[in-house]
Amino acid sequence: MATDHLTSVDEALTQILAHARPVSGQDTLELDACLGRVLAGDYRVPMDVPPADNSAVDGYALHHRDAIAGAMLPVSGRIAAGEASGELAPGTAVRIFTGAEIPRGADTVIMQEHVERQDNHIILSRAAPAGNNIRPRGQDLAQGTVALHSGTRLRPQEIGLLASIGVAQVDVFRPLRVALLSTGDELVEPGMPLEPGQIYNTNRYTLKALLQQSGCRITLAETLKDSREATRRTLQQAARDTDLILTSGGVSVGEEDHVRQVLEQDGTLSLWRLAMKPGKPLAFGSFHGTPVLGLPGNPAAALVTFMMIALPWIRRCQGESGDALPRGEQLPAAFSHLKASPRREYLRARVEAGSAGPVVTCYPNQSSGMLSSACWAEGLAVVPENTTVNEGDTITYYSFRELMG
Ligand code: AMP
Ligand code: MG
Repeated sequence: MATDHLTSVDEALTQILAHARPVSGQDTLELDACLGRVLAGDYRVPMDVPPADNSAVDGYALHHRDAIAGAMLPVSGRIAAGEASGELAPGTAVRIFTGAEIPRGADTVIMQEHVERQDNHIILSRAAPAGNNIRPRGQDLAQGTVALHSGTRLRPQEIGLLASIGVAQVDVFRPLRVALLSTGDELVEPGMPLEPGQIYNTNRYTLKALLQQSGCRITLAETLKDSREATRRTLQQAARDTDLILTSGGVSVGEEDHVRQVLEQDGTLSLWRLAMKPGKPLAFGSFHGTPVLGLPGNPAAALVTFMMIALPWIRRCQGESGDALPRGEQLPAAFSHLKASPRREYLRARVEAGSAGPVVTCYPNQSSGMLSSACWAEGLAVVPENTTVNEGDTITYYSFRELMG
């Protein structure tokens, strides 16, 4: 593969996503164990939610014909949430509480703040139209409709919605199995002393956390020496019963970059070197039929390329439907970036309050080796290819929360 050619980010994502196949296995889980998982099947609504018209407030249920300012009505009953509602005697009102079912014959509820209670009567301080303060049957979900479609990632609100239709067990796609390999003779695990020439293995921990946060199951986490043989052997082991091999480092142009070399010789290398900053050395291919995504070694580059390139692929393979690509926000830049580059730049950035609204500021040092910049940042600001940015220009911003949510 020619070393001078850089693939654009968009082209790379198109190529990589074309290889993404949703996992075929499913798990059936208790509802409270499904957070972050992806639904494998449509869920239909077996009954209207709410199942009956009910009161949105504490007050009095009556017929709107009687709901006239100044009217005095006898209170003929009392319905609390959870009780059967019965029938309203004409010309009367019934004491009712939030969530209680509306009695037959009533079509409006007046808030208790809008009546004066005198012994067993109420005097209305204002009129109320039909339907006032009533949450109609089926308002939230109508029987027979699809509450949630297959491919939906379950957030707390979707889990609550499934509970509201009585679902106790849920079919979800099984988690994606990922083998995580860090490469480099210089790497030492945290907790060990550092000898001259060594650095702590950072990516293993960043990537592990990113994979955990995105719902993957890590089947193997190994640190490889920079040797052809060790790389080949560990890739062979990693390729078994795994959906993705994710590596960091060793995919650049040097002779110590064995991941790229082994993929070229013993696997496939379909993509290498992106027009992306940070993240030029990025490889996509396969080894013994298992997809391999080789991320750059520099810690900030590994983080950014995971979020922008690996995550869309992972989402698609986890069965998530819809557009796998993240949605950015359009915001004014509070910085200038006057050096145009043929590579699309992702600046570690955050949103701050400007005099005329929110603006995007970026960390002053964007070195791909500096992870402190990513800890300061809350997202990534995009400088498109061959473009300069002047203060006030509108740019795309991806918040980490949106990317990882
Ligand atoms: P490489 O692509 O292997 O040449 O790595 C590029 C840079 O990233 C080098 O400075 C490496 O020392 C550094 N690097 C690679 N892997 C890691 C890692 N797991 N943790 C911290 N730094 C790393
Ligand atoms: Mg290396």
